[in-house]
Amino acid sequence: MASQLAGVSMAGWRVQRPGPIANRPLERVKTAVPRPQPSELLLAVQACGVCRTDLHVAEGDLPVHRPGVIPGHEVVGEVVEVGADAGDEFAVGDRVGIAWLRHTCGTCRYCRRGDENLCPQSRYTGWDDDGGYAEFATVPAAFALRLPAGYSDTELAPLLCAGIIGYRSLQRADLPPGGRLGIYGFGGSAHITAQVALASGAEVHVMTRGERARELALELGVASAQGAADPPPVPLDSAILFAPVGELVLPACQALDAGGTLAIAGIHLSDIPPLNYQRHLFRERQIRSVTSNTRADAHAFLDFAAAHHIDVTTPVYALGDADRALMDLGAGRIAGAAVLLV
Ligand SMILES: [Zn+2]
Ligand SMILES: [Zn+2]
Repeated sequence: MASQLAGVSMAGWRVQRPGPIANRPLERVKTAVPRPQPSELLLAVQACGVCRTDLHVAEGDLPVHRPGVIPGHEVVGEVVEVGADAGDEFAVGDRVGIAWLRHTCGTCRYCRRGDENLCPQSRYTGWDDDGGYAEFATVPAAFALRLPAGYSDTELAPLLCAGIIGYRSLQRADLPPGGRLGIYGFGGSAHITAQVALASGAEVHVMTRGERARELALELGVASAQGAADPPPVPLDSAILFAPVGELVLPACQALDAGGTLAIAGIHLSDIPPLNYQRHLFRERQIRSVTSNTRADAHAFLDFAAAHHIDVTTPVYALGDADRALMDLGAGRIAGAAVLLV
């Protein structure tokens, strides 16, 4: 296989001119099939999720780390080549996932204490290195993920970022057993995380602008669904802000019960307006950010998904329609988590 693919070209998308999605920052390209490093696997991509972070990369909300990067970090593929030093955990023909985190140093103070998500040398798929909006992609074997059975390729893709980051956000929100969780914004990550919380016995309340998103939330079994900044019907033990909207920090804090925690899930957030200490923080309410995830988070979440089936709502687009998928995401036209079928 290796020699067959050397010098072969593939279809993909590159972020050529970061800027508003309406100006078409992505360009459809024919490019060489990447060669795996000795420590890497090469995958034939079967599906790639469309994450809001891809939109942030395309629109330039995040600084350029690799000019002309191929976005996409929720990649489901089949191993077609195993590098010489990639170990024996994966073999040609295995179905494998590529997620956002793809390198950490392993020796810094954060890595040593188990916080590899904070490693200053961490690298990310579809930002620092090419990702899955293409027919082939590479991944360091140490960061490739085994995938749970019982899901299609399109259902698996959103688990790899929307699912994993949502899972970490839920841990960061410190939800007590049987507690009341508020979810602000109800896109791909939220609709998976709500199901994790419900399966764990939580009472879930959703605040989001989209009518279809509220309907989906109620279908999944949440206790209530209301407008983006509306107060939930009960005080919350924990909340997660998924919408990248800083203004929502205020109503989310106000909705917290004494001692409650708000976790902010996004990699990018618009400015937070001034907080009023009495109204938003006093009585030991706290705000926490969520930065990427560790491999331990990924394994814990994928184990959870193997044990509890998650209904992943996935509007499907062809690889050739990746820019349209991002436009729909930006315009709030997607219910669930969009997936490119490659
Ligand atoms: Zn490190
Ligand atoms: Zn993502």
